[in-house]
Amino acid sequence: MIQKVLVLGGGSAGLIAAITLKRILPHLDVSVVRSPEIGIIGVGEGTTPFFPLHLHRYLRLPPKDFYERAQPTWKLGIRFLWGERSEFPYTFDPQFSSRFTDLPRNNGFYCSSSLQDMSLSAALMARRKAFVRDPQNRPIIPVSSLAYHIENIKLVGYLEWQAAALGVLIEDDTVESVQRHGDSITSLGLRNGGTRHADFFIDASGFHSRLIGNEFAEPFISFSDSLFCDRAIIGPRERLPNEPIDPFTTAETMDHGWCWRIDHEHHVNRGYVYSSAFVSDSDAEAEFRAKNPAVTNTRIVHFRSGRYQRSWIGNTVAVGNAAGFVEPLEATALMILCAQCRTIADSLIDSLGQPGPHLKDVYNRFMAARWDEIRDFLALHYRFNSRLNTPFWQHARSNTALHGAQDIVDFYSENGPSLLAKAVSISENDQFGIEGYLAMLVGMNVPHAMPHDPDPSELQRLAAHQAAFASRADAAISISDALQLIRDPRWRWTP
Ligand SMILES: Cc1cc2nc3c(=O)[nH]c(=O)nc-3n(C[C@H](O)[C@H](O)[C@H](O)COP(=O)(O)OP(=O)(O)OC[C@H]3O[C@@H](n4cnc5c(N)ncnc54)[C@H](O)[C@@H]3O)c2cc1C
Repeated sequence: MIQKVLVLGGGSAGLIAAITLKRILPHLDVSVVRSPEIGIIGVGEGTTPFFPLHLHRYLRLPPKDFYERAQPTWKLGIRFLWGERSEFPYTFDPQFSSRFTDLPRNNGFYCSSSLQDMSLSAALMARRKAFVRDPQNRPIIPVSSLAYHIENIKLVGYLEWQAAALGVLIEDDTVESVQRHGDSITSLGLRNGGTRHADFFIDASGFHSRLIGNEFAEPFISFSDSLFCDRAIIGPRERLPNEPIDPFTTAETMDHGWCWRIDHEHHVNRGYVYSSAFVSDSDAEAEFRAKNPAVTNTRIVHFRSGRYQRSWIGNTVAVGNAAGFVEPLEATALMILCAQCRTIADSLIDSLGQPGPHLKDVYNRFMAARWDEIRDFLALHYRFNSRLNTPFWQHARSNTALHGAQDIVDFYSENGPSLLAKAVSISENDQFGIEGYLAMLVGMNVPHAMPHDPDPSELQRLAAHQAAFASRADAAISISDALQLIRDPRWRWTP
């Protein structure tokens, strides 16, 4: 029976895995070994709503400690500078997967020419506001349609503190050898001479994938037929005086990929994700700096998109970048990490600490499907982005393999933004759901065979809904004001 867990890696993946297991299965003896020489990746700053739900609802970790130590800002969605429209919002509240009760068609059918203020979050994003107010003028901070922007270093600092507070032992050393019988690891040998035994190992060693990729040599399933980018240039700049803090990530089309903008309280981070097959590092840097002249120092990160065939082998499971990676176009790394940690915890609970081969097989199939869904959703972004005609984007439009997203694209081409798409094509475990698919298909104005020509009275009723969202958003609170309010000693987080 599993009693002693050793997590290899102290980045966000290793620490969240350790915290999850210790919090959900407190009888486990959980420790972490991490290498100060190798360090952490230090990038990764956008989340989806799954992350706050995992921390504050599933693990019941108090927001107060998290806000004080990790100092996040808030993200209501992604502002896409993508496709033929000048921009469109992909929000975490429903814009297109719903229907106003006084209108005959689903919302998406009204958005071919304009999609302004189709939800509260869309209206807030358009006005760079974060939260509506309660009767006492305080921000109403929702749990389920909100995500965070957090600097990776600050997140890891908070996680270290939280892990230690829960009784997780964190040790600084580098794993140099692995002892095992078949596919069962018995211990890890450390550079400083010691050996650490455990019954269960979590490989959270980042891109090194020291146990699953390196020790077990598990095959890597590349996503390179759908995702062509393999590098990112990253650089911060200071926030300008009085510049509002954007309550969203921006994803902007670039000549050979795309660029993110993420707003932290005191600075803005930008990163250009590009394909080295289409542009040299120096030319990518020149394009990046031309768009972002205020950026100071930059660094380049190399990556490959894909996943290991199995992430659970014997008594070892990989999480985070050690299990797989896709570019951060939808900020999915922490999202899938939370799903991994939760499913591992469930597996240990339901198997009474003795997971068998069928359970591991189901885990591997379940997580593989989650990775592949992310690939398919991102593929859609590339296949239909008609904004630029550079060789990179021509290649992406002609060659991006849609895999599992082909079905929903075919359905959409025939039927438009019908909610039936959900029943036809989307798994109930899909992390983006019908809203995600419709946000991108409607947002990019992908053509379909069922355009709706609303009569004037429909347009009038639609305008009334949009005006109602707009007026709530006009009176809403910005991120800077909300940060001041939650730092007031009188502020209380509601459970
Ligand atoms: C360009 C880019 C942008 C990204 N943006 C986002 C984003 O917006 N949102 C998001 O969710 N994610 C993003 N990510 C992913 C992000 O990297 C992960 O979410 C994340 O931080 C998880 O990292 P990790 O813990 O798996 O790896 P790491 O941070 O690399 O940690 C690995 C750990 O393993 C240790 N280690 C490795 N080998 C050994 C050894 N032999 N012995 C001992 N210790 C060892 C290291 O010291 C370290 O502690 C991005 C990634 C890239 C490349």
